[in-house]
Amino acid sequence: KTVLSQRAREIESSPTIALTMKARELRKQGIDISIFGQGEPDFTTPDHIIESAYRAMKGGYTKYSPVPGYPELRKAISEKLKSENSVDYSPEQIVVSSGAKHSITNAMYAILDPGDEVIIPVPGWVSYWEQVKLTGAKPILVKTKSEREFKITADEIRAVLTEKTKLLILNSPGNPTGSVYTREELAKIADLCVERDLLVMSDEIYEKLIYDNAEHISIASLSEEIQARTIIINGFSKAYAMTGWRMGYAAAPLEIADAMNKIQSQTTSNATSFVQIASMEALQGPQEPIAEMIEEYDKRRKLMVQLLQDIPGVECSAPKGAFYVFLCIQALIGLKYNGEQITDDECLTGLLLEIAHIQVVPGSSFGMPGYIRFSYATDMETIKSGMGKLKQFVTDLH
Ligand code: PLP
Repeated sequence: KTVLSQRAREIESSPTIALTMKARELRKQGIDISIFGQGEPDFTTPDHIIESAYRAMKGGYTKYSPVPGYPELRKAISEKLKSENSVDYSPEQIVVSSGAKHSITNAMYAILDPGDEVIIPVPGWVSYWEQVKLTGAKPILVKTKSEREFKITADEIRAVLTEKTKLLILNSPGNPTGSVYTREELAKIADLCVERDLLVMSDEIYEKLIYDNAEHISIASLSEEIQARTIIINGFSKAYAMTGWRMGYAAAPLEIADAMNKIQSQTTSNATSFVQIASMEALQGPQEPIAEMIEEYDKRRKLMVQLLQDIPGVECSAPKGAFYVFLCIQALIGLKYNGEQITDDECLTGLLLEIAHIQVVPGSSFGMPGYIRFSYATDMETIKSGMGKLKQFVTDLH
């Protein structure tokens, strides 16, 4: 008999975090592991943001803040949403939390009841469905097609709708695919959500990491009707290289924002006070460091894609957003390395770590076997040597 709740027993821990830990462990043993598993910028937070946090601490921002965040930060976020995303959310509709992941949890607890169904396109970010499970609601995973860059269509959503469907989760630019939805694609989805009275959670955490002149569109900007049922999720982790600061926010219809505020008041209270002040600096201070990071990601993206395309048997096109490449490895399944057969993407991931000394995440972790995810949030040297090791490994397969 276990002391653990059913809830604790039913959720899985984050596979990406577990894999990164394992790779770091091997590294400690002196093995040169090229790490492509991490979902976080390798850059350090820009200096002016760090300075601002220090000044804030010295200036007395070391106490509780209002639960949904300081009014001036909520106002700054409201202004950012208007100027950058063409959406009008008042400061009262913004709830600041300890990371986008936390914002997502708050939002789910605010709107989901046991038995509700939540549509999640896969491949998708692992935490969505585990978080849905925590609320007692049911994740409905919908497999998307590689020929449409893994973007879900209105028809695919329509096909799985039931009277219990409450929420659709969208993530553009997306993890693990890097796909970016176009205005037209979002418009069709928005029409369906309005027609069928669905709520939408639009996770826009990678909005600034976008390449090849692609445009980030927030679905909420398409009409008042869709905005009235959209919860925007965003944060500072990816764009400002602030993963460890734990800072995210949601913009939601007032009723939902109020409920999230209430839930947060009984759980974590507020996001860290001085981090909130530093986040205002991130939003309103110089943006050049961000532009430099994006330029660097773009170079790495091009290099990685070019080197991958050079490897026989793998298929790869250049993703337009985030910092991931989602690679089809179907052609490698069934082949053998030194007599050991590659049975699936998880088996391949294990062999890549042990033999080629490169760490990636299996597509299965994102609900899509037959693929592996590389993150290019790492330096050019690691990309060059890692892709070299991969090529050698693939060449040695029979
Ligand atoms: N949403 C997606 C799609 C992510 O990939 C991640 C981080 O990996 C998050 C949200 C969480 O971001 P945060 O660090 O703000 O909690």
